[in-house]
Amino acid sequence: MKFGKSQGSIVIWEGQSVKQYPSMNTINPFILDHTLINTETNIPSSEPSVFQLMLKPSKIICLAKNYSAHAVEMGVLPQELPETPSLFLKPPSSLIGPNEKIIIPPHTSEVHHEVELAIIIGKRGKNISLEDAYDYIFGYTILLDITARDLQSIAKKKGRPWFVAKGFDTFCPIGSVITTVDEVPNPHSLNIELSVNNELRQKGNTGDMLTKIDQIIQYCSSMMTLEPGDIIATGTPEGVGTFNRGDNLHASIEKLGSLEIGVE
Ligand code: MG
Repeated sequence: MKFGKSQGSIVIWEGQSVKQYPSMNTINPFILDHTLINTETNIPSSEPSVFQLMLKPSKIICLAKNYSAHAVEMGVLPQELPETPSLFLKPPSSLIGPNEKIIIPPHTSEVHHEVELAIIIGKRGKNISLEDAYDYIFGYTILLDITARDLQSIAKKKGRPWFVAKGFDTFCPIGSVITTVDEVPNPHSLNIELSVNNELRQKGNTGDMLTKIDQIIQYCSSMMTLEPGDIIATGTPEGVGTFNRGDNLHASIEKLGSLEIGVE
């Protein structure tokens, strides 16, 4: 199973072990636990996530309403779609990797799934031009922007910030594989899906993003420095909905693989 590569170096995660070819020092996006830097290190199965040990984003930037059909299902009129991207942050503490579970907290009784293509930033940048945007991307993976919709709705009605609805621990599962940018020549042509207990709920195509990936990089970096390992979630297609404890979520994006995760 490929984990990622950069400038000729490749990190491969196979079963319980991580292999590194040929040198680690050109892998910028990840802060690696020193126990993993040897050529091959066995990872005890009790470790929750190799991936989480490796990816340490300074921030997880998310776009809201970046697919028009989803914006409409959230009650936005087509003429009211935002002219500029609508951004919020998820805390890095919400991140989980494979072999972990989404934990529904007692604060909410309505949790929604949102499947999204996530950009992994590969190098530091500020005020990045459209032309240079893809040079700053390390790769892509699948991300679930888990949302306590009831808390979000209450906060919106009261005019309060609603980031807490997005920020609980385990509310940001990401895939076990990062597909590097060079392997996805057109990230705006990918089918994206999510099923709950084998029932298809979300089905879309990344071509329907309102703000495209190069524009997202330009816009975000005009305001905040993008750091290696930072994650940008690019919005969800229509079909968001509830799930419950005991459910099984299966997300997939063409060329990027799949992500399967349970719920507690
Ligand atoms: Mg979202």
